[in-house]
Amino acid sequence: MGRGTFERWSIDIVGSIVALQQGSGPVYDDGASAPDGSIPVQDGLLKADDRCAMDWEYDRLTTATGMKYYAYPYADWWRTELIRHLISITLSKGKLLPFLSFWPAGIPAVAVISHDSDINKDEHAAATLQLLREVDARSTWCMLEPGYSSATYDEVKADGHDLCLHYNALDMEGGKWDEEAFRNQSKWLRDAAGIDRISSNKNHYTRFEGWGELYRWCEQNGIESDQTRGPSKKGNIGLIFGTCHPYFPVSDFMEGNRSYDVLEIGFLSQDLNHPELYDSSLVDPFLNIVRESEGVAHFLFHQVHIYNFEPVRQAVREVVAGARQRGFALWTVDEVNQWERARRSVSIAGVDESGRPVLEGEELPQATVVYVPVSADSSATDGDCEIKFGFVCRKYTICERNDG
Ligand SMILES: [Zn+2]
Repeated sequence: MGRGTFERWSIDIVGSIVALQQGSGPVYDDGASAPDGSIPVQDGLLKADDRCAMDWEYDRLTTATGMKYYAYPYADWWRTELIRHLISITLSKGKLLPFLSFWPAGIPAVAVISHDSDINKDEHAAATLQLLREVDARSTWCMLEPGYSSATYDEVKADGHDLCLHYNALDMEGGKWDEEAFRNQSKWLRDAAGIDRISSNKNHYTRFEGWGELYRWCEQNGIESDQTRGPSKKGNIGLIFGTCHPYFPVSDFMEGNRSYDVLEIGFLSQDLNHPELYDSSLVDPFLNIVRESEGVAHFLFHQVHIYNFEPVRQAVREVVAGARQRGFALWTVDEVNQWERARRSVSIAGVDESGRPVLEGEELPQATVVYVPVSADSSATDGDCEIKFGFVCRKYTICERNDG
């Protein structure tokens, strides 16, 4: 193709990534349950996991104690293959293709703990606050109407946790799947909790319908991130949507395949060690997969189960300890959202004569790391180099704006 090349793959890579992350189609009816009975998604409720591109048999692994989980971040792997190929053809033409790290310098991956306030008793919140103080972690609190007392909100805010929406669209609990209900519940939370901004939402029961409605409603109400895409059943936990990375969902053709201005940050599991669910043998495999993919390990624990079950409290301790031991940062959902948006506002203008990247951006995030691939020979590393996407990359940490 002139001086360029035409690179052809016999796989629709981007389409596959979207189908994995956002579902193999819009949710208009129940998905099929797994024939072994372990994933009964056909339950008369429309949810995110009613459209799942994973295979119940081939895509799950089992822990030593018999817990089955989706184990493969296929969407992240496809993205990696695409980036790897881009770098390889760029290097073969003698060009440089610098790129930003996923996280700030020194952070290999991020762990997030979130809660849904189902039942809404203040004593459940108090038990959760106490546990979080014990493990010295901040978390993300998704509030279901009618929520907690204002004194509890004050404590949650004082401890630095996120206060977010737990949108209820469950008909049997008086909820409704529509724009007005979403707006009313957003308004309720802002008034009840005394907050101007709701940073994030997670839907009660992982209720989900159609394709992009939820993201449109988030945009309309100034909600910058969503956490609804996770498992609702015991047997479909883990990498059910093929990714542990935050991403901006894409609309269908009706909205011109635009990206919604809502960062999706899905979760891996609900209430590890709950007697009717699964045990904490999943903590290590989940953290290891996420560490390898440099993503977000997002664990959901309901305050009511933290209050009721010592084993659930123990699982929270194991998640925090396992994440710290691996060097993860423990962030709230909004911290992930703010970092990712700041990171994406940076552009790499080029490299200077010494090969150092020159960055441009409104507000350059602190300790931004830029990698410059220099060689396909992965044995040729030296002090400033790391292997990324299979290539030797020179590593530059940019600490302040335009210091590069
Ligand atoms: Zn809920």
